This record gives sequence, C-alpha cells and structure tokens, in this order.
Amino acid sequence: MDKTIIALNNLAVRLRRTRCRPEELLVLFSRCLQRSACERRLDETLKDCARCGRCPVCRFLDLRDKYGVHLFLATGGRQAAERAAAPGIKAVVAVACHKELRAGVFASLPKAVLARTIAWPVGPCKDTTIRMDEVEEAVRWFLR
Ligand code: SF4
Repeated sequence: MDKTIIALNNLAVRLRRTRCRPEELLVLFSRCLQRSACERRLDETLKDCARCGRCPVCRFLDLRDKYGVHLFLATGGRQAAERAAAPGIKAVVAVACHKELRAGVFASLPKAVLARTIAWPVGPCKDTTIRMDEVEEAVRWFLR
C-alpha cells in the first residue's frame, strides 16, 4: 500500500510540473544511509563527514555541492516535516523507506515531494542503500 501511495504521489508531482531554483529545493535523507560502522557523529549540517566514499552520505554532499540545493539528514519524521515546511522551500526530494515517505509526503502537503525509496540489503534501518542516479534525476527534474 505504501508503495502505491508513493508511486501515485510521484506521478501527481510530475503532472503538477513544479519547478524551482536550487535555493528552494531541499534534499533530505534518512540517517540509516550512513554506514553503521562509521564513527562520525553527524548532525544536520553533515560537516563532520570525512567524505571517505564508504557510504551514500558523501554522494549526497557531492549532489549538494554540484547543484547548490539544501541538504538535510533526517533523524525523525517530525523533524524532516518541519524542515520541509520552511517558508523558503518550494519542493523536496525525500529519500527514505516507504513508511517514512508516505508520512512525509502527507505531512509536507501542499509542497511537491518526489520520493525515492531506499533499499535494505541487510534488513531495515541499517546500512541502507539508494540509487543515486535516481536521486539526481529528481533534483534535475525540479531544477529543469
Ligand atoms: S562517507 Fe565516510 S565519513 Fe562520511 S558518513 Fe559515510 S562512512 Fe562516514
């Protein structure tokens, strides 16, 4: 069910044809994408990531640097929704599990949220992965 809601949301966002500038776009992602063995304690600024390349966090930082968008590490659904609701944000690329995405999409209405679902190669909530090409495609779509 969550999967269907996410797919319908993404279709609706495409049909609305929302566009925005980089400073109006927020990319947010779940903490579980950080490698579990990494000893870096990351806050929302991500400044303590050593960008070692062992997990997707550094890829998100590359994306932020390349496009000039906002980037946010979400440690909870409410925190993520508050960040998405910020007045300067027009659209969101959200990267999380289906359950979090469904809640986040509804919490962020009427803002446009393109959702990208993480994979669980070793089970839920740990060392999750994401297709970064799909994340970048969503960013480029809003900035087109
Ligand atoms: S890229 Fe490296 S330093 Fe940054 S969070 Fe991932 S494992 Fe830690």
